[in-house]
Amino acid sequence: MKVTEHIQKAKGETLFSFELIPPVKGKNIQELYDNVDPLMEFKPPFIDVTTSREEFIYVEKNGLLDKRITRMRPGTVGICASLKHKYDVDTVPHVLCGGFTKEETEYLLVDCHYLGIENVMALRGDAMKEQRYFEATQGGHLYAVDLVKQIKEMNQGAYLHDVVETSNCSNFCVGVAGYPEKHLEAPSLKSDLKRLKEKVDQGADYVVTQMFFDNQKYFEFVAAAREIGIDIPIIPGIKPIAVKRHLQLLPQVFKVDLPEPLIEAVEACADNKAVRQVGVEWCIEQSKELKAAGVPVLHYYSMGKSDNIYQVAQALF
Ligand code: FAD
Repeated sequence: MKVTEHIQKAKGETLFSFELIPPVKGKNIQELYDNVDPLMEFKPPFIDVTTSREEFIYVEKNGLLDKRITRMRPGTVGICASLKHKYDVDTVPHVLCGGFTKEETEYLLVDCHYLGIENVMALRGDAMKEQRYFEATQGGHLYAVDLVKQIKEMNQGAYLHDVVETSNCSNFCVGVAGYPEKHLEAPSLKSDLKRLKEKVDQGADYVVTQMFFDNQKYFEFVAAAREIGIDIPIIPGIKPIAVKRHLQLLPQVFKVDLPEPLIEAVEACADNKAVRQVGVEWCIEQSKELKAAGVPVLHYYSMGKSDNIYQVAQALF
């Protein structure tokens, strides 16, 4: 079922969902299942699985270091298919512009369609480490809006090379990213919102937000989005702080502000076990307020271990 259909079916009840990261190449998938198992108690209607950007690696060859590009966490579509089969849950693979040609994206979407996957998140991806700016892959898209267009055109039967009889079109429900505190490259929140509106105008069906730690940022973002005619569901994406280093890392990587009381509570912690508990408590309070405000879904970023998401969900669902 589509994410938007799940939301409609819930008739105003807030749903629980979460995002997973594929294991590093060569690692066993069992660890991922071990983290998913407990969360299934809260009946997520859908689970997202991220796609990792490629990275530069250096391989020794004839005594010299050879620079290569590799994807360290492949397997997104395979994991989506396996979770769907194992838990009878809808899955949402993240589809990136970066690292994929349009043709490869088409193949990936054909796989998803045959596997019965009905939702995809259309994202640009970040620049690779060592790159200052995002550069489009040769033959790929520069912005997520172009990827949304490709997916929606494919839903209409328009493949890249118009050679097929399109008797069995895909019908993907497409999610896109939104940034309550603006995307790091955007000159202003207003201009970033206009870019979001372009994705919606191309047919995006719902938005999932970047993490935030101050609900006011989300409420203001939704109000501003509604004002410019964005009328699709805007799902808050949130994450419990888990280690002290997040105080520097999260603002640096995601350009999000942390509220002063949260910073003070984390700084006062003796160790990361205590930080994890502070993160859970903050996330529960955030979730309660968002739920009371009637958000369609509470979507949690789980960076591997799910015990903290479990504690949050237990308090809410
Ligand atoms: P876009 O919508 O293309 O926007 C990128 C920037 O370009 C913005 O600053 C925007 O304002 C600007 N812009 C857009 N269109 C134009 C235009 N026509 N002209 C000029 N400027 C323009 N990354 C991963 O690698 N893998 C994942 O699985 C993943 N999942 C994510 C899930 C969520 C919910 C979120 C919020 C982010 C996720 N990301 C993921 C990170 C995401 O790829 C980055 O934030 C990326 O830098 C931007 O992606 P986007 O889809 O928002 O890009």
